[in-house]
Amino acid sequence: MARPRLLPAIVKSLLGRPSTVQYPYVKTDVEASYRGRHYADLKKCTGCSLCAIECPADAITMTQIPAHFEAPKSNPRRVYPKIDYGRCVFCYRCVTVCPFDAYVTTNFYEMAGPRENTSEQLSFTTLEKVV
Ligand code: SF4
Ligand code: SF4
Repeated sequence: MARPRLLPAIVKSLLGRPSTVQYPYVKTDVEASYRGRHYADLKKCTGCSLCAIECPADAITMTQIPAHFEAPKSNPRRVYPKIDYGRCVFCYRCVTVCPFDAYVTTNFYEMAGPRENTSEQLSFTTLEKVV
């Protein structure tokens, strides 16, 4: 007796639009406010470590800025927050606690991969090289 009641649902499912997309061949739309990959702008960061202290996932390591980059005078210890995206839970606590508004936020979400995935290279794009 259940079969006639199922029939409309089966027909609707066969003829309707699929509920899923063929990711990664088809990209998923995300909200502009989606919390995606973020990194520190090292021209603004003072190396205060507050974001690393506040991170609930222990995903931020304060790391030395390599000598071949010019660090701002406001960052005398020459350290910056390196985010391990594999540990990050994208709560954006680091973004909200930073007293210098140093974080650049994006809605980029494609971060899966076999290699270590950190904010290092993105943060280095914000600095000039020593000539
Ligand atoms: S978004 Fe949250 S979990 Fe990720 S680095 Fe910032 S504070 Fe840590
Ligand atoms: S809280 Fe802001 S200024 Fe302090 S280390 Fe983190 S990004 Fe840099």
